[in-house]
Amino acid sequence: MTSMPCSPVERMDQEQLLAFDRNHIWHPYTSMTDPLPVYPVRSASGVRLRLADGRELIDGMSSWWAAIHGYSHPVLIQALREQADEMAHVMFGGLTHEPAVALSERLVRITPAPLDRVFLCDSGSVSVEVALKMALQYQHGRGCPEKHRMLTIRGGYHGDTFHAMSVCDPVTGMHTIFSHALPRQLFAPRPMCRFTDPWDPEDIVETVRLVETHHREMAAVIVEPVVQGAGGMWFYHPQYLKELRALCDQFDLLLIFDEIATGFGRTGKLFAMEHAAIVPDILCLGKALTGGTMTLAATLTTGEVAETISNASPGVFMHGPTFMGNPLACRVAAASIDLLLDTPWEEKIQAMEEQMRAELAPAADLPGVADVRVLGGIGVVEMDEAVDVAVLQKLYVKDGVWIRPFGRLIYLMPPYIIEPEDLRRLTTALVRSVEYLHHRQDG
Ligand code: PLP
Repeated sequence: MTSMPCSPVERMDQEQLLAFDRNHIWHPYTSMTDPLPVYPVRSASGVRLRLADGRELIDGMSSWWAAIHGYSHPVLIQALREQADEMAHVMFGGLTHEPAVALSERLVRITPAPLDRVFLCDSGSVSVEVALKMALQYQHGRGCPEKHRMLTIRGGYHGDTFHAMSVCDPVTGMHTIFSHALPRQLFAPRPMCRFTDPWDPEDIVETVRLVETHHREMAAVIVEPVVQGAGGMWFYHPQYLKELRALCDQFDLLLIFDEIATGFGRTGKLFAMEHAAIVPDILCLGKALTGGTMTLAATLTTGEVAETISNASPGVFMHGPTFMGNPLACRVAAASIDLLLDTPWEEKIQAMEEQMRAELAPAADLPGVADVRVLGGIGVVEMDEAVDVAVLQKLYVKDGVWIRPFGRLIYLMPPYIIEPEDLRRLTTALVRSVEYLHHRQDG
């Protein structure tokens, strides 16, 4: 095999690139023998992805909740360049640095008290592992090692690593194939009361029953607050979280919020927990943390949890990734938080919400559509049946937009900087695709 060029000056032949990709590279959740098509992208700026063949696509995905400021934002790129000139990485064992401290100071400042102890790690899934491990070490430190099980709600998604998988939805998650290898957790029903409905106390009844029955063996409850993302794009009532907080307090359980998808403004509040005005004991952040520039996550906890862990044997928290506190990622994350707070992001999200609500509403009357819902910068059209991703994606690319459905869900979560005309192109393409699916079935 001849080696292929790696510099943008000497471009790879696109056919060669696709052939190599097809034969050698895994993509997320993809078959190695019958993969879905992939589109070579050459550059991205603002809300536009530029394909290698010259086509431009308006981005409706923010690269899975992450690129909230759009792509190649000059402020973030400058932060990255400046940091690269100083140091790209150093080990975090025995060393510390300004980027990690500056980022952690911001995280402590923008999250509610008493969340003021920060663990920096590599990815969302790892931050969930860290959170669950913290809960286990906390219970161990309190002299309750038998308290080791987690409770979560059905329809959740918390990542692809093993303990994270164990708290993903047991049906749509990966339990079937890995069931023998996963810890056995407790699953309460998904709260059915919608975000905008009046609160229905029935929604928490089974959760209360499960906690009353199992609290002696339980360490913590973990949920995505208000928005369940990859497990179904479901928006539930914030009162459920208030009830959960009271329940955890009553039974000495830690409450973990996974805000990896919802953090940094996506639901209309800086953090989704603000809809319920309650604070968890452990908080996971990721995705938009670096404005989608690179991978980084954080797990925050309280002094009480941190001290309980640290004052018991073995006297340390048992986690320490090689790239912990990576200076490049921390520097860009601190810059991304400043950028977000310096812009009128609340108004932008509200405008996006109103526009998506108006422009996606016609989809609700189309055959094959089960539900249309919008919250903050998230617009969802839920279909009756799973859609053909390859067919739809081809249609979207032809329409000049980037939308990637999964299962029965076609959804939008564009970068916050999107202009109304570009958002309209996304909503129009989405509604048109639903019409297309209907006519295709008819034809
Ligand atoms: N938790 C939630 C709520 C997520 O949406 C995701 C990713 O989609 C994760 C955890 C896992 O994050 P990562 O893909 O960075 O490991």
